[in-house]
Amino acid sequence: MNRSMISVDEARSVVLANLAPLTRVTRAVADTVGLVAASTVHATEPSPRFTNSAMDGFAVRSDDTTTSGARLRIVDAIFAGDSGRVVVGPGEATRIMTGAPLPPGADSVCPREDATVDDEGRYVTLRRAVVYGDCVRHVGEDLRVAQSLITPGDVIDPALLGTLAAQGITSLDVYPAPRVGVLSTGNELVDESGPLGPGQIRDSNRPTLLAALRQSGVEVSDLGTARDSMRDVRAVFERARTTCDVVVSTGGVSAGDADFVKVVLRDLFTDHARSMQVAIRPGKPFTMAHDPSTGTSFFGLAGNPVSTLVGFELFVRPALRRLAGHRDIDRPTVSMVLDCDLPRRRDGKLHLVHGVCRIHDDGLLHVERLARQGSHLLFAVARTNCLVLAPDGDGFVAGDTVRAMILDDGQMNAVSAVRTFS
Ligand code: AMP
Ligand code: MG
Repeated sequence: MNRSMISVDEARSVVLANLAPLTRVTRAVADTVGLVAASTVHATEPSPRFTNSAMDGFAVRSDDTTTSGARLRIVDAIFAGDSGRVVVGPGEATRIMTGAPLPPGADSVCPREDATVDDEGRYVTLRRAVVYGDCVRHVGEDLRVAQSLITPGDVIDPALLGTLAAQGITSLDVYPAPRVGVLSTGNELVDESGPLGPGQIRDSNRPTLLAALRQSGVEVSDLGTARDSMRDVRAVFERARTTCDVVVSTGGVSAGDADFVKVVLRDLFTDHARSMQVAIRPGKPFTMAHDPSTGTSFFGLAGNPVSTLVGFELFVRPALRRLAGHRDIDRPTVSMVLDCDLPRRRDGKLHLVHGVCRIHDDGLLHVERLARQGSHLLFAVARTNCLVLAPDGDGFVAGDTVRAMILDDGQMNAVSAVRTFS
């Protein structure tokens, strides 16, 4: 490895060194999905709250129904929401609906489809024996009082959110979603709608990053484009440090004459700014800074569109997840079968190659296709769903096993896997 380069792991430890979850906030439970819990919550009510029927049918005493053909007198009808106080005595039953409390005396429910009611509606005959506890949902079966519901670090998913609501819990301490500002730098850049002059290009990094950030569940703020000037870049960073938890900029961090991002960050934050040459391709130049007074983190990613995406995945996304309080900050990296060759030369770097992976009939993940490589080839990585790690060496051939980071697990199904659930 080139002496001035550092490994991805070293760069990641620089990135994560100053990062801790953001200050917790209290939120309405309804607004917490996807956020991470910051405190402990215990159940205050059992769930189910009371023993109730799992079916529409008849609440019975199982002692009366040990054989099929039992004939019982109907003494009441209990609907969901009723209190069901009539006692079911020997030889008796009540009509009961799903979710209605099991009346005293009854211990089981015979589903309506297994019963016949006589013409006057006074007696019911059960077509099968009913075993003790049949079709009954017991108090506390899902949750006991004082049982732990949430510990810090748990991600609030819809079922957990619903559980809290069912407990009557209306607010929750969570780590807020980081506020992330995105800036593009470069004199050549024009917004998507602007006319293009000679040598100019449209800004694609900002829309790409804003989209990736939205998918990561953070709050985004568009900081626009800055020209390659100390003054312009500095002005944006100065403003953003008071409004953003994280600022991601692209461009201006390599060794060109107009690479002002790293200079400005060094100027503003001195020892808290660090420019690195990471032993990866693409995305080698990378600058990270930390504002000790506001806590804002700055990520200066290389400007080439694919480098930007790789830097985002390796450094920014894990950092954002750390701030958001997640226990797992990394995408899953798993073994996959390579279905094509991946040639590479030795250069001391880890190569990161976008690819398409899917689950095959052998039950294994296969990398079916690799994107053409080139840090400027943005469309080439569109609709890929993994990032293959090709360590320094001579590369791989079809049939080799490689490690790859899963970027989008919603698009991994092979044709046969989506056809059936059985
Ligand atoms: P830089 O990192 O500023 O030296 O830029 C490296 C390459 O990425 C150059 O070809 C830039 O024109 C290109 N580039 C930089 N920023 C952007 C952007 N926001 N959108 C598209 N291309 C960019
Ligand atoms: Mg530039």
